[in-house]
Amino acid sequence: ATHVEFKDVCKTYDGRTLAVSHLDLTVASGEFVTFLGPSGSGKTTSLMMLAGFETETSGEILIAGRSMSRVAPHRRNIGMVFQNYALFPHMTVAENIAFPLSVRGVPAAEQASRVGRVLERVRLGAYGARRPSELSGGQQQRVALARALVFDPVLILMDEPLGALDKQLRDQLQLEIKHLHAELGVTIIYVTHDQSEALTMSDRVAVFNDGSIQQIASPSHLYRFP
Ligand code: ADP
Ligand code: ADP
Repeated sequence: ATHVEFKDVCKTYDGRTLAVSHLDLTVASGEFVTFLGPSGSGKTTSLMMLAGFETETSGEILIAGRSMSRVAPHRRNIGMVFQNYALFPHMTVAENIAFPLSVRGVPAAEQASRVGRVLERVRLGAYGARRPSELSGGQQQRVALARALVFDPVLILMDEPLGALDKQLRDQLQLEIKHLHAELGVTIIYVTHDQSEALTMSDRVAVFNDGSIQQIASPSHLYRFP
């Protein structure tokens, strides 16, 4: 079934910068789609409109067949993972993951059970009481992922989540994200400017250029540029 749909979406900043131009895209439930393209090609803006943090200038975005035009970000049931994880250094791992729950006033007992469950899902069950600085880069990345999963979203958006890591760790975490995708059966939209990352991880790659999708295909069918 179709999970995400961009219908002729345009985004202009300040009435001048055309960041996204007539974007049409359909993502199926459970699919792993990567937005690949150079800096400034409109990848992040597209992701932010889907998350509801930016408003489209025209066109429409649907999730599960429903128009998001009037749906606030926290009602879209999307999990997000950003570059550099954005973990709070003064909080424990468990507190970091509970943060979005406490902001929304989820009762303490439910917070604890949800945090325990997602920690198990990312295989960090023994690390709840640690601080992020006591964890490896890969473990910190998994905490960020756990935090994104804490509301049981079926759609996860990742914006260059491995961009700041060294090559070896990136390779390892690419595999982990792939496994998680397969295990959890969630839809993932993943932004990167790293071609090999896109080819390794995705069901389909959407190649962005100048605010629109130049081609979209599975890694083996993608037309490669020299
Ligand atoms: P990326 O890593 O995707 O290239 P950028 O570094 O271009 O991201 O942008 C990071 C943040 O700054 C984004 O949230 C984006 O909305 C904002 N931003 C990017 N370009 C501009 C700009 N020209 N004016 C104001 N904000 C911008
Ligand atoms: P990418 O994620 O592919 O690097 P972006 O979506 O961040 O691309 O940016 C697309 C275009 O929109 C760029 O020209 C960028 O400078 C511009 N842009 C992005 N965010 C903002 C913003 N908040 N204000 C103004 N211009 C922006």
